[in-house]
This record gives sequence, C-alpha cells and structure tokens, in this order.
Amino acid sequence: MIDTFRWLKEADARHEQAMVSRKFGKLTLLAMTRGGISPLWLARCDCGQVREVSIQRVIVGTATSCGCTPDFMPPQPQSEWGTWRAMLDRCYQPSNPSYPHYGGRGIKICERWQTFDNFLADMGVRPGPKMSIDRIDVDGDYEPGNCRWATATIQANNQQRHKRRRMARAKAI
Ligand SMILES: [Zn+2]
Repeated sequence: MIDTFRWLKEADARHEQAMVSRKFGKLTLLAMTRGGISPLWLARCDCGQVREVSIQRVIVGTATSCGCTPDFMPPQPQSEWGTWRAMLDRCYQPSNPSYPHYGGRGIKICERWQTFDNFLADMGVRPGPKMSIDRIDVDGDYEPGNCRWATATIQANNQQRHKRRRMARAKAI
C-alpha cells in the first residue's frame, strides 16, 4: 500500500528540485512556498522585486514579470501543470472524487512521468484550452504511447468504444 500523503509530498519535492533557479521571462524561481494542485513560488524579477507567483501561470507564460511589465496573455483555465497534478491526485489520492475510477482501478503513472519535466517533454504543450489528457487504452496506465491531448468529445467516444469492446469480450467468455 502506497503512503499517498508521503508520495504526493515527494512529488512536490521532486518538482521543486526540477524547477528551482529556472528562469521564465523576467522571473527566476527561488523556492516553492506552497505545494499541491496549485503551487506558489517565490520568484525574483529582473527589476529586483521578489514576488509570490502561481507556477501554472509562469509555465504557461501568462506571468512573465513581477508586474513591472504588463502580462499580455490571459491565464488558461488548466495548464499542463494542472493536468499533471490532477492526474497524480486521481491515481494516488484516495480522497479525490475520481480516485475509484483511476487509482482504485489500478491505473498507475509510469515512473518517468512522476517528474513534471518528463511529462511535459513527452506530451508537449497543451494544444488548446479545451484539450485534456486522454488514455488511448482506457484500462492502461498513464505513460508515453498511451496518452495524447484530446477534446472531451474524442475522450467520450474512446470510452464508449472501449466499453463496447469490454462487453463483447465478456459475452465471448
Ligand atoms: Zn519586475
């Protein structure tokens, strides 16, 4: 049995290690001040100001400074970071409402993707705000080769197709 609390804490620690002192726009990341699903970081701007920022906005590029330069892009509702962290929660956090359909069913996340940087490198930037992560084999794990960015419609069709196949398999037995 996985100690989920410790596991998620370790995921936060790995994320902090991977991101610390990286630079996005004018912001250099100093330290994570809040972990979890919407983490906050202290960042130093090129102008010298130190400010707490949402890592999601920094990664997506909608927060590029302490505020001394206008941020032009509107924040996206769910960034790659949000997708990744929600995936961890669905698989490893029994208190998550979706856990029974994921972790509870034995769906896992491959070791490589337990680090955000690897996940982003394999999946690439989310192509649009309506896209979320889809498993091609809905009974398979979250891993490269079984995941793609897809719209809710594609995902629903995929789930239907698998349901029909599972029912046909059950009938054949
Ligand atoms: Zn600044």
